[in-house]
Amino acid sequence: MKIHEYQAKELFDKYSVPTVKALVCRDAESCAAAWRELGSPLVVVKAQVLTGGRGKAGGVKLARSEQEVRECAGSILGMDIKGFIVDRVMVAAGVEILSEYYISMVTDRNTKSVIMILSREGGMEIEEVAAKTPEKIIRIVIDPLTGVPDFVAREAAFTLFDDFSHVKQAVPLIQNMYRLFTEKDASLVEINPLVTTKDGKVVALDGNMTFDDNALYRHPDIESIFEPTEQEKKELDAKSKGFSYIHLGGKIGCMVNGAGLAMATMDMIKLYGGEPANFLDIGGSSNPGKVIEAMKLLLSDREVNVVLINIFGGITRCDDVAKGLIEAFKTITTNVPVVIRLTGTNEREGLEMLKGTPFHSASTMGEAVGTAVKLSKSLSN
Ligand code: GDP
Ligand code: MN
Repeated sequence: MKIHEYQAKELFDKYSVPTVKALVCRDAESCAAAWRELGSPLVVVKAQVLTGGRGKAGGVKLARSEQEVRECAGSILGMDIKGFIVDRVMVAAGVEILSEYYISMVTDRNTKSVIMILSREGGMEIEEVAAKTPEKIIRIVIDPLTGVPDFVAREAAFTLFDDFSHVKQAVPLIQNMYRLFTEKDASLVEINPLVTTKDGKVVALDGNMTFDDNALYRHPDIESIFEPTEQEKKELDAKSKGFSYIHLGGKIGCMVNGAGLAMATMDMIKLYGGEPANFLDIGGSSNPGKVIEAMKLLLSDREVNVVLINIFGGITRCDDVAKGLIEAFKTITTNVPVVIRLTGTNEREGLEMLKGTPFHSASTMGEAVGTAVKLSKSLSN
């Protein structure tokens, strides 16, 4: 779950991570009022959308008068940034920037820890810095038992700053950032840029946080500000139907019974050179209703050009599944080809029933995935 910059900064405030005074507005009039209230000769008007790269898209603008604030608000509100429509902006006191830095804390699979990522090349997209000049990115693994004691915070602070007065400010900032990360079960806290100002301060000019969805139940304050994206709404809807569904962005829609098999199916698709559109575990049972719901879910993804159904018949019998599928597809009209792999109990009977249907049936995973990838590629061209 993601939150907006202004919400992240409210949490920064609570955790004594220094930010700049700011107000959130939904129209030009309240932006003008914010300008008057802030009383700063320079303000920045920033789009609040659940995606990065706002600066590049023209969603961050500086203003030096009430008139300019109105103009900036007018041009940013309603803007489309990577498919997100801006419905609110943050008006913040402007900062005279000396230098921009990058700092984040993120859960890392390789080290099975939270790691701190630091760079003196802040402000721009960190992926770009990582690709072009990887040596400019420093990673520090945080030991979960000790957290961030003073010496680790100092080591981190010195990778960013030479000036001791900046280091002194960064040490508690880093420790508070980690406290926020762990206490709120975040999966990411990112400040890009963290800046030094002309008057000698170190402040978070931007803030980005994501949270572990599985821990939201113990953070009602975070859950209450959840604004699901279209994708997340779909995932929640799937959850309410008893599926576990994760959107992945590829072209091959997958319908599988069992989480392990679903993972293996995605791996196989990758191995054969394709891209899975999703993870979908429909659980046991051959209930046609479930298949219909799952197909609707897969086909609602416009990117999907092939559906791969991979079923292992254990207690669930393959002939029952075949019957369920045939039944389900009586009510589904689609041009998207469907590849079915059925194996296990009553496999032969199941495959027999699928003969003469428009499904591409297969009895091995390799055959099914190979067919799905080939079809998907030919349809993409
Ligand atoms: P992002 O592009 O979505 O990551 O938005 P940011 O909040 O990181 O802002 C992008 C850039 O705008 C920053 O890297 C700064 O260079 C600039 N910027 C943001 N706020 C201020 C400010 O208060 N004063 C000045 N001078 N520049 C700012
Ligand atoms: Mn940023």
